[in-house]
Amino acid sequence: MPEFRQNLATKEWVIIAPERAKRPSYSSRKKKKIILPEYEKCCPFCPGNSSEKDPAVFAVSEAGRWLLRVVPNKYAALLPEISPIRKRIANFLKVEGFGVAEVVIETREHNLTIATMDVSGVRRVILSYKERYEELMKKEGLDLITVFRNYGPLAGTSLAHPHSQIIATPIVPLWFRNQIEEARRYCDDTGRCVYCDIIENELKFNERIVMETEHFVVFEPYASKSPYETWILPKLHNSSFRYISDREISDLAPTLQNALIRLHNAVDNLNYNYFIRSAPIGDDTVEHYHWHIQIQPRITTPAGFELGSGIYINTTPPEEAARILRGQM
Ligand SMILES: [Zn+2]
Ligand SMILES: [Zn+2]
Repeated sequence: MPEFRQNLATKEWVIIAPERAKRPSYSSRKKKKIILPEYEKCCPFCPGNSSEKDPAVFAVSEAGRWLLRVVPNKYAALLPEISPIRKRIANFLKVEGFGVAEVVIETREHNLTIATMDVSGVRRVILSYKERYEELMKKEGLDLITVFRNYGPLAGTSLAHPHSQIIATPIVPLWFRNQIEEARRYCDDTGRCVYCDIIENELKFNERIVMETEHFVVFEPYASKSPYETWILPKLHNSSFRYISDREISDLAPTLQNALIRLHNAVDNLNYNYFIRSAPIGDDTVEHYHWHIQIQPRITTPAGFELGSGIYINTTPPEEAARILRGQM
């Protein structure tokens, strides 16, 4: 029977309707898998190619060769050198397109991904996120830093070379403000962080847990918007990703990799986005928000009902997705 479920942290409603799907296994696209080469001469991010001319804002090297580089995004929608002055003409409000957009070139090899690179490489990627996060926090005028990764054409990536992106904006969008406000209300009512309570309850009920490590819990949220939505929550309460410790990074690297391997095994030709949800700059010590990673496989496309109502229909119950993912290693 279909049911409405509410996400405790965001108050968003979804419909879990397994009857709409014939089976809980998916292929993101019925297409032959493309085998990528280790080096691609047309790829700007491969060693020796065009992006090497761009000065890196952060790099890790070994024996004279770079292993990871963070460079400004050449095709950024936002520019770092203009000042974010607000202007209002009648009802029309605008701010100059100020912001910072960077690309993390995660490895030299064109054909790797988080699921297939060495775990030390994944650790390096997470470390670069933290380095840039801390650095961008110091820049005046920025309010929100979004770290994300797009994998596959259905997830919006135009380049196959393994990379993540970081975009810092002078604006916190309304939906995110609302989510933080919901978390604040929960904290006002109960004296507790809603995400800490979610972790406690998920571990107690143990129906949607994919894996648990020393510092992280990986699970399918009770009100998953789409099949195989996966959250990675740190057990230690911190509102901002900036506070991730070295020990947590060392644990997160194999955890993130393991979660993605399970997803790749469960979904043929997986396309996904993941993003780090972290409190806005300036709110990074609040007790009511709890940073985390959300992995969103791109299996279904939101249609008229989702876009019109904001209520997502998910055909794979998260309990079923968790059971499948637990069996994938
Ligand atoms: Zn490449
Ligand atoms: Zn918490």
